[in-house]
Amino acid sequence: MTDARQFNIRDEEGRTICPACGFPNYAYRDAYTERGGLIGVTICPACFWEPGFDDHQLASAAAKDTIMESLHAYRAEWSKTLEWRGYEERKPDNWDAKQHLDRLFELAPHLR
Ligand SMILES: [Zn+2]
Repeated sequence: MTDARQFNIRDEEGRTICPACGFPNYAYRDAYTERGGLIGVTICPACFWEPGFDDHQLASAAAKDTIMESLHAYRAEWSKTLEWRGYEERKPDNWDAKQHLDRLFELAPHLR
C-alpha cells in the first residue's frame, strides 16, 4: 500500500492545500495518515472533497480502488464546472479555481 501522506499538501506558508482542487487552508490539520484519510477532519469549502469519505469505498459508492483514482475521478467531475460548492459566505472575493489548480500541480505534480 502506498503511503497516503502523499496527499497532505502544504504551500510555503504551511497552509494545507486541498488535493482535489488546490484550495488553501482547506483543513486545520493534515487529513491523511500513512494508512489513509481521516474522516471528520475537513470537507473542502471549495470543491467538497472529504478525506476519508470520497476516497474510501466503505464510505462512498463513488470512491475508486485507490485514493489516487478516487481523487482523479472526483477532480475530473468537479473540473467540468469548476464551481464553488460550499457556503457562499466562505467564498473569497478573489477565488480563482483555475489558479488554485495550477498552484496545486506546481506544489504536488504527483497528484496531476
Ligand atoms: Zn477542494
